[in-house]
Amino acid sequence: MSGKVYLVGAGPGDPELLTVKAARILQSADVVLHDALVAEGVLALARPHALLVDVGKRVGDKRISQGHINRMLVQFAATAGTVVRLKGGDPLIFGRAAEEIATLRAAGIAFAIVPGITAAISAAAEAQVPLTARESSAAVVFLTAQLKDGKSATDLARFASARTTLAIYMPGGKYRWIAEEAMAAGLNRQTPCVIVANASRPNQELHWTDLAGLISLSSPASPALLIIGEAARRHEERLAEVVQLAGQNFDAENHDGKNP
Ligand code: SAH
Repeated sequence: MSGKVYLVGAGPGDPELLTVKAARILQSADVVLHDALVAEGVLALARPHALLVDVGKRVGDKRISQGHINRMLVQFAATAGTVVRLKGGDPLIFGRAAEEIATLRAAGIAFAIVPGITAAISAAAEAQVPLTARESSAAVVFLTAQLKDGKSATDLARFASARTTLAIYMPGGKYRWIAEEAMAAGLNRQTPCVIVANASRPNQELHWTDLAGLISLSSPASPALLIIGEAARRHEERLAEVVQLAGQNFDAENHDGKNP
């Protein structure tokens, strides 16, 4: 009889952002294969005798390959009771889950997926910017700026539009390229941007800028998530607009003929 595998979302870092289900399964795990990004406070929930394997670790400058992780999943499932594959954020967003699901299916191993709070959602909450807004952003796109085989994995220009919020994963080192692509696609230089590094962690950093500012940005800490779009306008600015608008309405009301 083989064990069961759970692909579990560890959330962005703050252990309180784990789902109740993720915490329960983690507390019952015999083996936990986790990403490097998973926070200590989350790992601390595992039982003392559970085997924790950091599969995101670099050995020299080499990472454990996805093929190796897949084989470990199958081997541990054959011997252990509950195997947790713990991934940062949500397991189904930029987490190589497709390969693991295919491997588990091919091996006939029972598995379940437990969602987690993905980095974009946590970053938006920390920056207090709505990813959609009735007047300005009708859609939100999660995309990666990472290169695949030296080429851009994302046709950023295809998604850049004035009424869309872009939530960009793995933007490190590519801020200039991202800004240029977005402006070439027609986005205004002043389109607001916010970068949230280490969202929900004690070392969190927020950087407010716009597309023009992104070009000359010295890389902030990582992991970082970049939000581009009207939705990412800083609340102080938003407030100033509301006040201005209210002022205009006030003027209009006071000049409607009755109150000259
Ligand atoms: N499955 C993960 C994403 C894995 S890809 C999720 O759903 O969040 C790794 C990228 O996620 C990082 O390069 C960064 O862009 C983003 N990321 C993960 N955790 C983050 C955090 N706490 N703060 C900001 N970005 C984070």
